[in-house]
Amino acid sequence: MLDVLIAGAGPVGLWLAAELRLHGVEVAVVERRAAPDGRSRAVGLQAGTLDTFATRGLAQRFIERGTPVPTGHFGAATTRLDFSAVGAVHPFMLALGQSVTEQLLEEHAVAVGARVLRGQEVVSLTQGPDAVEVVIRAGGTHRTVRARWVVGCDGTRSAVRQAAGIDFPGQDTTMTGWLADVELDDPPTGPLAATGPGGSFLAAPIGDGVHRLAGLSTATMHRGTGEPLTLAEVREQTRALLGRDLGLRNPRWLSRYGNATRQAARYRAGRVLVAGDAAHMFFPAGGQGMNLGIQDATNLGWKLAATLQGRAPDGLLDSYDTERRPAARAVIDNTRAQLALFAAANPEQIALREVWSAALAEPRTNRQWARRIAGFDDPLPAGTEPGGHPLNGTRLAGLALNTPAGAPTAHPLMHHGRPLLLDLGGTTTPCPTDGLERRAATVDTETAHALWRDVTAVLIRPDARIAWAGTDTDPQRRAADCLPTLRTLCR
Ligand SMILES: Cc1cc2nc3c(=O)[nH]c(=O)nc-3n(C[C@H](O)[C@H](O)[C@H](O)COP(=O)(O)OP(=O)(O)OC[C@H]3O[C@@H](n4cnc5c(N)ncnc54)[C@H](O)[C@@H]3O)c2cc1C
Repeated sequence: MLDVLIAGAGPVGLWLAAELRLHGVEVAVVERRAAPDGRSRAVGLQAGTLDTFATRGLAQRFIERGTPVPTGHFGAATTRLDFSAVGAVHPFMLALGQSVTEQLLEEHAVAVGARVLRGQEVVSLTQGPDAVEVVIRAGGTHRTVRARWVVGCDGTRSAVRQAAGIDFPGQDTTMTGWLADVELDDPPTGPLAATGPGGSFLAAPIGDGVHRLAGLSTATMHRGTGEPLTLAEVREQTRALLGRDLGLRNPRWLSRYGNATRQAARYRAGRVLVAGDAAHMFFPAGGQGMNLGIQDATNLGWKLAATLQGRAPDGLLDSYDTERRPAARAVIDNTRAQLALFAAANPEQIALREVWSAALAEPRTNRQWARRIAGFDDPLPAGTEPGGHPLNGTRLAGLALNTPAGAPTAHPLMHHGRPLLLDLGGTTTPCPTDGLERRAATVDTETAHALWRDVTAVLIRPDARIAWAGTDTDPQRRAADCLPTLRTLCR
């Protein structure tokens, strides 16, 4: 019997498979498509995702294939978000087509021992007390596979979600934008946003000499997502919104996209979980959908592995739902707000966008929204003690180290995907008396020299969230202070 069967070899399923393999979990990914999806779709890896990849030693292989973009937009506002201020190790958005991202993720997943089985579609499942029976269609035949857990990473129409009886409430598309991945004879010098009474227009390089043009035109926004988009319409709308057509030609991908917005009512039903687009869908504003899904998988991987291997404290797996549903809710809210700005047509709405653009010129506001879009500002986990250290529950950012082995940040110390207890005073934090020795296989300990606020030691979860930050200089008291939090991560 398999430990975990994942439905869907999109970016989320592939990344989850690799995360589970870090812990030796037997995992197979079944994918309906016979061959990889070549469409560029998500063209941005946010800084938060690159930092996640850095915790597994992988960021550089993505960076080598993409184009760093230091700023981003929020709702096509003319003041851009400055990613250099978010405290990331890689402080930029990386323009990279989703097909390349998926190729690199699949190579990594397979290299660490995941099986990716193509041309195989999950059609139904039945849950028992100890396992899930999954019916898979391959060619004209059906077979049944047993797995202890099943994760649906099978996109917005998730068969797994439906078979598990998880509701997906929300709204259907009411307006559409258009996008075109094209070559330009007359490219802009950098990312471009233009707005006016006719709608909004964005252009950004996505590598290989291709630009993504995206627009929301008041004249066409009520066309259905299924209506064909032609290069002539893109040229016409670009001229209407920008005043010139940038010499666009040679389209790689033309598509309409809508604002259908839905979220799974729960992310777990018994032995079945959902992640990525299977758990949430929304207007693709600000390049967040794939990144959010990759963070779902990063949150879930170590918790599911610990549950399978009997190392999980009570409630650890359920915290996947309580942490990730609010994170998606916050992204849904910001995509709706962005769409309101993007679709601004009357003078009042246009004025709102101007006011918002002016607000973003204030550095603190700009940094706050850059952090959100970059994936550094998810809501704090439920149960984060009010009155504790302000870093507790936050995403690791801005910690520069000097370790005996020369690690410049904590990220290279996290390749095993285990919690990391890091003493910043350069002395070994004694194990908490209640048997960290026993937990030694599940927690990494390291020492480093760093001046980081008032912090003397920090416990970092495998998903780069700070579980606990200690300020006591006495090692024994510090260890005792850390212990209750440590017990919530592993037993
Ligand atoms: C126009 C557009 C632009 C976008 N731009 C961005 C962006 O810039 N940044 C960003 O972060 N996001 C962006 N997104 C969103 C992003 O593409 C998705 O959020 C992302 O693909 C979700 O990944 P996933 O792995 O959850 O699902 P998917 O990528 O949908 O993968 C699901 C996989 O499951 C397979 N599958 C489906 N049903 C079954 C079944 N029954 N059995 C087996 N396999 C099955 C599918 O074939 C597919 O391969 C954009 C989306 C669109 C449409």
